[in-house]
Amino acid sequence: MIFFQGFYHFLPKTTAFRRDYCRSCQEVRTLTQIRTADFYHLYWIPVLPLGLWKRWKCAGCGNKPYRHTKTSRAAKAFLALVLAVITFEFWFEPDLADEFSSQELLICRIGISALLAFALVWLKRHSPELTREQGHALVPHLAIPNCLLCGGPMQRGTPDHCQICNRKHLPVPREQ
Ligand SMILES: [Zn+2]
Ligand SMILES: [Zn+2]
Repeated sequence: MIFFQGFYHFLPKTTAFRRDYCRSCQEVRTLTQIRTADFYHLYWIPVLPLGLWKRWKCAGCGNKPYRHTKTSRAAKAFLALVLAVITFEFWFEPDLADEFSSQELLICRIGISALLAFALVWLKRHSPELTREQGHALVPHLAIPNCLLCGGPMQRGTPDHCQICNRKHLPVPREQ
């Protein structure tokens, strides 16, 4: 039986902004913090209120800036290992000669070996994704005199907020 279920994000409201590194854009962007009232729904009927949730969104690409976008080194290594085992079987398992013609076997051996080669190159060229802290470190230390969302003057405070749209500036945490 299939349940139609999921989450609703009602009443989205932009409450804050910051400059930070977006993993999708691979650049420092303006991020907006969106607050929503979330509900769990079953057959499109909101049955369980989950309260207010805040999420960061990149103003450049619209994606979640802190979401992982790259395949991890471990996943690539695992894929290469699996392909290595299969490649080994195709080359050295004697029973396969009974199941396939020699031509079929040759095509399979070349194909799987090529896949293994691609997987190994992919693993070798792996460049790790920036951690959140590394991304924060790319953001210049600049005072923000005007709101990045509406251009209005900022009011000093904890935190600073825009005098026009009232959205807060929540700068990235800095290592002391
Ligand atoms: Zn982005
Ligand atoms: Zn503003």
